[in-house]
Amino acid sequence: MNIVVDLNRCQGYAQCAFLAPQVFEMHGEEALMYLPVPPEDQLERVRRAAAACPVQAILVGEEAGADVR
Ligand code: SF4
Repeated sequence: MNIVVDLNRCQGYAQCAFLAPQVFEMHGEEALMYLPVPPEDQLERVRRAAAACPVQAILVGEEAGADVR
């Protein structure tokens, strides 16, 4: 399972870093670092983070696959 964060869309609200700190991490005010292939045991948290992102910048699984270049 892979994820993609649309960093153009991401506004650095850090909801994801709060909900899944092992996968998403804020560096400074707006720079988001994340694991493109999160561990399986983090998937539930990742889904919650994706649902909570105010700008729907987090794409999970099939959504992310369609977006990979
Ligand atoms: S919750 Fe969404 S907007 Fe906020 S830091 Fe995460 S990806 Fe970016």
